[in-house]
Amino acid sequence: MISSVLPTYSRAPLSFLRGEGSWLIEESGARYLDMGAGIAVNSLGHANPDLVAALSEQAGALWHTSNLYRIPAQERLANMLVAGTFADTVFFTNSGTEACELAVKMARKHFHDAGQPERVEIIAFEGSFHGRSAAGIAAAGSEKMTKGFGPLLPGFRHLPFGDHDALHAAIDDKTAAILIEPVQGEGGIRPVPDQCLKGLRDLCDEHGILLILDEVQCGMGRTGRLFAHEWAGVAPDIMMVAKGIGGGFPLGAVLATEAAASGMGPGTHGSTYGGNPLACAVGCRVMQIVSDPDFLAEVRRKAGLLRQSMEGLVAGHPDVFETVRGSGLMLGLKCRVPAADVVAAGYDAHVLTVPGGDNVLRLLPPLNIPDADLAEAAERLDRAASAVSADNPGAAAQAS
Ligand code: PLP
Repeated sequence: MISSVLPTYSRAPLSFLRGEGSWLIEESGARYLDMGAGIAVNSLGHANPDLVAALSEQAGALWHTSNLYRIPAQERLANMLVAGTFADTVFFTNSGTEACELAVKMARKHFHDAGQPERVEIIAFEGSFHGRSAAGIAAAGSEKMTKGFGPLLPGFRHLPFGDHDALHAAIDDKTAAILIEPVQGEGGIRPVPDQCLKGLRDLCDEHGILLILDEVQCGMGRTGRLFAHEWAGVAPDIMMVAKGIGGGFPLGAVLATEAAASGMGPGTHGSTYGGNPLACAVGCRVMQIVSDPDFLAEVRRKAGLLRQSMEGLVAGHPDVFETVRGSGLMLGLKCRVPAADVVAAGYDAHVLTVPGGDNVLRLLPPLNIPDADLAEAAERLDRAASAVSADNPGAAAQAS
């Protein structure tokens, strides 16, 4: 018999009653160190007092009005995002996949209104993830996500990650945009080198097409800059944001230049909840905290600590791990044994990590994780890795 909750997830046998900073606590009182942060969502930890206060204050005043009316917190958050980024304008959604829907619509409408209606195609990359809506799965294109859900939304081309020749050859007079995650998240923490991101920007400019960046997972301070593309010194035309921007409250956004958004006038897009007062009250507080240069410097410092300890972990367990990769507090440990086994051993050691593509274990802790918790995570992961080695004597022999 089907479960009352549609069985689309394979869930770990864990459930939590409450959270405190980088810790999740079960009903029994058992505490787990959360190095996944809801897959890069709880950017400021669990039950962050600043965010609780922002939400409670708004909850006592007004929950929802609809976008028929002006929403002051939405305007404040949009102003902050515009002031702190390349963008001239922002549309708020509830999730990353909704941001993908609008990014695709916006790019097509831009060219439609510019008298180039044939430019509808979006070039995306293998291993990418852009959400589970019709546009999201068509954009990512993997068989795992699309099989059985056809007919798929047309107008996407998929290229191997990092294949420059294929990219140059793929752009033609039907191309509207290139869509890419500056650091692939679900695909296994695969960063796009800064030079390549610069190259993509140049290519888009050369062909008069749009660069859409999906910073749903890697944005909002995760890499130690407010947005990951800042490392490369280039800016997109359109950017998708979600996850960390709400710190755990459902919120997403599409940021765009005035030129890219030129087709999106009244009536072209909408959302009942998108940018609702509760979400934006929390989003404003998150943005205030995360965009502070001192906060971002701390993220970079903590990232250095985590990187160093993870390099040590990998060196200490060559039978379990191959390498560390990623940027900031978005690291991936490429595994030699099934990454799921290491994640499961982590449950036993009471440390939570997230499996990703390419047999990678993802580390996406809260951006304000205390140094002591980072050290504790390294110890617990060391225990988990030792348990996996003991269970996989074959892997140990192979690595030596
Ligand atoms: N884009 C990226 C890069 C993501 O990592 C995700 C979610 O993991 C999404 C889009 C979809 O976001 P959501 O799950 O909020 O719809």
